[in-house]
Amino acid sequence: MQLIVELPVDAEEYISQKFQRSITAPAACPHCRACASLQALGYYFRSITGRKAVVLTISVRRFRCKVCKKTVSILPAFAQPYRLVRNHAIHRYFCGHRNDADTKPWRVLLRRYWKKFCWWVARPDAVWHSRLNHAPPPRSAATWWELVVDTFGSMIVATQVLVSDSQVTLFGRYRCHRPNAPAG
Ligand SMILES: [Zn+2]
Repeated sequence: MQLIVELPVDAEEYISQKFQRSITAPAACPHCRACASLQALGYYFRSITGRKAVVLTISVRRFRCKVCKKTVSILPAFAQPYRLVRNHAIHRYFCGHRNDADTKPWRVLLRRYWKKFCWWVARPDAVWHSRLNHAPPPRSAATWWELVVDTFGSMIVATQVLVSDSQVTLFGRYRCHRPNAPAG
C-alpha cells in the first residue's frame, strides 16, 4: 500500500539530503491497524522530473508489518503516483502555464495527463466529486479543475486528501491505495 506524506523538501533536496533515511514508520499498520508493527524493508526507486528539464531518481521508503506481513511505501507528496512529472509542474500546466520552464519540457506528457483528468472527471461515478463544493455539476474539465483548486489549493494537497479519504487520485483509482490490497 502507498501512503502519501508531505515533506519539507522538494525532489532535489530529498536526494541531496538522503531524506528517505529519515522517514519513520507510521505508528500503526494501515492494513491491520497493529501498533508499532512496521519494520524497515529497504526502498524502491522511481523517476520524477526535477526543477529543470531533467529526470531524477528517488528512493521510496518501504516498511513491512510483522503482524500481517503486508507492505507500506511512503511516497513524498511532491510526486504524483504513477506519473513521471512532479506535481508542481502538473498543477501549473493545468492552470494554463503551458510554456514556462516548469512545463514546456514536459508538454507532451502533460497533455496526456490533462486528457486522463478529463476522462476521469467525466465519469459520473467518480467518488471524489462529492468532495468538491458544486451545484450543479460543472460542464467542463476546466471548471472541475477550478473547483479542485478552490477546494484543496494545489495538486499536492488534492492528491494527498483524495488518496487518504477516497483511495483515488485525480487520474484514476489504483489498487495500491487500498488497505489490504496485496501489492505494496
Ligand atoms: Zn499489518
